[in-house]
Amino acid sequence: MPYEPVIGLEVHAELATKSKMFCACAVVDNTVAAPNVAVCPVCAGMPGTLPVVNQMAVEMGIRVALALGCTVNPVSVFARKNYFYPDLPKGYQISQYEQPLAEHGRLVIQTGAGEPLRAIRIRRVHLEEDTGKLTHVEGGSLLDLNRAGVPLLEIVSEPDIQSAEEAVAYGEALRHILRYLEVNSGDMEKGVIRFEANVSVRPIVGAGVTPAPYGTRTEVKNLNSFRALERAILFEIERQSKVLASGGTVEQETLGWNETKEVTYSQRSKEDAHDYRYFPEPDLPPLKVDESWLTRVRAELPELPRAKMQRFVTSYKLPEKDAARMVEERSIAEYFEAAVFRLPSSVTPKALANWILGEMFGLMKTRGETAERLKVRPEALAELVGLVAGGEINQTTGRTVLAEMFESGRSAAEIVSAQGLKQVSDAGFISEIVRQTLEESPGEVTSYRSGKETVLNWLFGQVMKKAAGKANPQVVRAELERQLKRS
Ligand SMILES: [Zn+2]
Repeated sequence: MPYEPVIGLEVHAELATKSKMFCACAVVDNTVAAPNVAVCPVCAGMPGTLPVVNQMAVEMGIRVALALGCTVNPVSVFARKNYFYPDLPKGYQISQYEQPLAEHGRLVIQTGAGEPLRAIRIRRVHLEEDTGKLTHVEGGSLLDLNRAGVPLLEIVSEPDIQSAEEAVAYGEALRHILRYLEVNSGDMEKGVIRFEANVSVRPIVGAGVTPAPYGTRTEVKNLNSFRALERAILFEIERQSKVLASGGTVEQETLGWNETKEVTYSQRSKEDAHDYRYFPEPDLPPLKVDESWLTRVRAELPELPRAKMQRFVTSYKLPEKDAARMVEERSIAEYFEAAVFRLPSSVTPKALANWILGEMFGLMKTRGETAERLKVRPEALAELVGLVAGGEINQTTGRTVLAEMFESGRSAAEIVSAQGLKQVSDAGFISEIVRQTLEESPGEVTSYRSGKETVLNWLFGQVMKKAAGKANPQVVRAELERQLKRS
């Protein structure tokens, strides 16, 4: 294709505060709450009411701004963005325009393990309020104001994104950070994060030539999943390229995304900032953030996902893929690290990681449990992994014991001793059951000796069965081979 895309993203993230942005109404989960249970005269836009800024929402905004390396402005200004829509009872949205909360940050993205890192510049981070929700039914529309006035953080990137794949990587990295900062649940199905993509294309020029100026952009609104984000961008790149290739011009417009047909459709033509007649909100004073507030929030920032992942690779020698999976949930990463410190010195963190990413994730999934509510504490898991690595119990028994630990919360050592599961490495005992097994299976022994070596696995299984699964597999295998080689 002779055209290359230029993409900028606007991300709207609901802030996980208890109350709304400018009133004391509770923020409720709209997927379960009845309509209009969290509404007051302020968020219903009644004349004569006054907004009051939610301090926690500002603090959460600062947290995100600092995590993205932004400069937090000592003074920012709320502004009225004027437009009419039935889900916006005031006739304007309180947002921030000329002086946002924070500016000039960056977000490092990677499209996959081993791929190069790219820094996407963040233009601005500002606070605003969400709108209500309209449901269109036969004969009219239903209005729910539970969401009206819920704090929103808008994070706007520079047009540094070069593909749909990068846009998804950006969205995922940002969602990951928001969850680590505990400012947003990341629950995309509940609409707590929404994307808007600004897409344009321009002719590709050779290396060393000044790039072509940006083409006319379109804005695709309300993309509520990574899939929709990716598909909509791919669609727009192709559509605009075709328009240009056939000699046409791209119209600046606001587009919607039809999820079922996977096409964009025109909502409004040419819409610019001046159409909203922004002006400073007269009912709110300028928002001041002093240095001591910034210092405290900065000191309280957790280690962010990318830094944690890199540390797990260097400190614990985890492969990058494993480290990435381990840091996906902050609680799991912390669980892993708590267990690492309880491991016997002979056991590697990688062995522990294998247990968490394999067996433990499997058990958690089938039982629907989260790291915070696990009966198996990190020290208990470390003990189990130590027992397996030290040869006290074998891998298979280890799995049974872990399942039992999930059930009862008892320690691995308790279960092993109560159920007599200790692995048997005693050479005399193993030698005897191997001898018995070979004696009972003369046919298999003959075929092994005549060159059919796969019979060994079958014989191994027989021995393990006889030992009720408790025999040390390495010792059994060695003894089997020894006795079979004897003529
Ligand atoms: Zn309210």
